[in-house]
Amino acid sequence: MDIKRNILLNPGPATTTDTVKLAQVTPDICPREKEFANMMAGLREDLVRVVHGNPERYTSVLFCGSGTLCMDVCLNSLLPGGKKALIIHNGAYSARAVEICRAYCLPHVELKLPYDCPADLEAVDKALRANPDTALVYATHSETGAGLLNPIRELGALVHQYGAVFVTDTTSTYAMRPIDIEADNIDFCMASAQKGLMAMTGLSFVIGRRELVKISKDYPRRSYYANLFRQYDCFERTGEMEFTPPVQTVYAAIQAMKEYWAEGEQAKWARHTRTMDAIHAGLEALGFQESIRRDWQVGLVAAVRNPGDPNWDFQRVHDYCYARGFTIYPGKVGTAGTFRLCALGAIDAPDIQAFFKVFRQALDEYGVAVPVRYDS
Ligand SMILES: *Cc1c(COP(=O)(O)O)cnc(C)c1O
Repeated sequence: MDIKRNILLNPGPATTTDTVKLAQVTPDICPREKEFANMMAGLREDLVRVVHGNPERYTSVLFCGSGTLCMDVCLNSLLPGGKKALIIHNGAYSARAVEICRAYCLPHVELKLPYDCPADLEAVDKALRANPDTALVYATHSETGAGLLNPIRELGALVHQYGAVFVTDTTSTYAMRPIDIEADNIDFCMASAQKGLMAMTGLSFVIGRRELVKISKDYPRRSYYANLFRQYDCFERTGEMEFTPPVQTVYAAIQAMKEYWAEGEQAKWARHTRTMDAIHAGLEALGFQESIRRDWQVGLVAAVRNPGDPNWDFQRVHDYCYARGFTIYPGKVGTAGTFRLCALGAIDAPDIQAFFKVFRQALDEYGVAVPVRYDS
């Protein structure tokens, strides 16, 4: 089968291998069969291994849904009654976490920090001192809107000094930037299959401390469908998801996991880094500026300032590239005036070089001067 290969430079879903795409074509199976439960059990163990978790102390729980579901699950399930969550808000995804708290009427403190620099530990320390009833602290590992990296290891250590649980959204770093769940002081992290794992959309997972999941059994039950303990308990008792799993997506994730181990953590991170270096080099050659300082970036996302040239029109350039198999992505709220080029997925430096040829053609086609100009 000949499947057209598109280069996705958006922040997920990512470009996948054909072997992962084709893994979805399988004989029909009822997911309540032992065979399917065994497959999910293996996947759950592997998901913990990716972040080097000891399987006795850490577990993973699968959910059918996009990555936001895991944010929802962690926030609604891991807060004991009468306690507060502290949300470290320094980007579009932690803004979403605040919205989730509001939707469930969870007692929470929103610590709003600048979107263009890593979360300040002193500000977090101050907020924790001022709110001794904080039981859960939430931070985004990489704020994907800007490609900003937060210092989760240091944040986790600080949170633990106050006896709170540290939840971090690793959706856009998991299985790319190496994570060590214990050394990084993470109690719970999360991801979806279509980003770092380079699998399909519709399967997401929470990875975290087994003991804390068990304790959360007695916390207020704020969601019927999206409860962490309930889904964990069902997996542990029956090996199954409580409700229907995304069957074909699970097959693809298992194939993607095989390919993850075959490539290796360090080699994969080196490939993403190589890809990102090619993005930086291509941007620099055309005079583009990025909005986040290089040493504060996650190394997977470039948020690029839109040039001041009156002929620059993101949508037109996007359409030109899209028609030729390359997908670029607009900026997000809070980082308006930018567009993004990302290094997720089964791509490498030569794909970026091919992209920049097309991108340059688009700039010429629409009369955007190179090197690009900025007003300030
Ligand atoms: C992609 C992403 C999510 C999940 O977004 P969905 O649209 O639900 O897939 C959550 N957090 C971060 C940091 C992300 O990059």
